Amino acid sequence: MNFLVGHYVTIYMIHRPQPDNGAYEGLAPRLLNDCLNYARKSGFEFASIDELVADALAGNNRERPTICFTLDDGYQDQVDQLVPVLLQHDAKPTLYTIVDMVDRHDWPWDAKLNYAVWSSALSQVEFHYQQKPFKLDLTHPVARTHSRRQLTRFGKTLSSDDLMQFVQNAVAALAVELPTNAPLTYTPASWDSLRAAELQGLRIGSHACSHQVFAALSDAQISAELARANHRLGQEINNPSQVFCYPSGTAQDYLPHQAELVKAAGFVAALTAMPGNMRLQHIKEKPLHIKRHSFPNSFDKFVRYSSWLEYIRSSI
Ligand SMILES: [Zn+2]
Repeated sequence: MNFLVGHYVTIYMIHRPQPDNGAYEGLAPRLLNDCLNYARKSGFEFASIDELVADALAGNNRERPTICFTLDDGYQDQVDQLVPVLLQHDAKPTLYTIVDMVDRHDWPWDAKLNYAVWSSALSQVEFHYQQKPFKLDLTHPVARTHSRRQLTRFGKTLSSDDLMQFVQNAVAALAVELPTNAPLTYTPASWDSLRAAELQGLRIGSHACSHQVFAALSDAQISAELARANHRLGQEINNPSQVFCYPSGTAQDYLPHQAELVKAAGFVAALTAMPGNMRLQHIKEKPLHIKRHSFPNSFDKFVRYSSWLEYIRSSI
């Protein structure tokens, strides 16, 4: 099929593993293992995102359909539970870290909102932020997920100062005491564990510093975050990825000209969270707007996303 549809690749974006307490939906290491077994037996090749980009930019083709794994954010449970499964299969994963989180400066604003929504003892919450009313239903898990999304979506539209105030107001309305350091379920990866994983074959990259979406930041703030993240990764990690990963990364989360700031910071390419398979030729044409599939929650979907069927479907 590669002959017919060209040399497409499937790039996966992975977030957290399934937590023990079922507080949110995560990826079960066993499902990941089953998918990797299937991919290997079916003749897929694994490539790191840096390898894929290098091939694309050089105009090289790949002999076989290729799968690439990226993980976002840099929590310790990702390093402990998901990275080992990927490394065991030589799947060449890359983990994009929120540098301020790993540096223990602060935990990300969206993680705080997630924590507050899931640990609130209330069932209904109403509050205002700058005239905007919020009505949060917390009566069951699906409602909590919906409420969390509502807050995150709004938070993405705010400047840094407003965002801090908004998070504070929301957390107060939810009647939650926010710990200064991330609680256990949000423990960031340590630089030591990242370095140890790097020696085993994990590549580590920049997901900027604060996890604030670029669309809400000034160009100067973005360039400062990019430079600071590069500096810290250069100090802590042997061989950081030359590919950047946008915070959040949907179409609304960064503006076209901001991709140029990423390039100016020394990156050859950048990962979005926009779904789709890509051909190497597309990566070559738009290296700063690479699409990824969110890793699915079922084996069948993995098979479909990884196949040329999905490529054709997403092209129509
Ligand atoms: Zn992220």
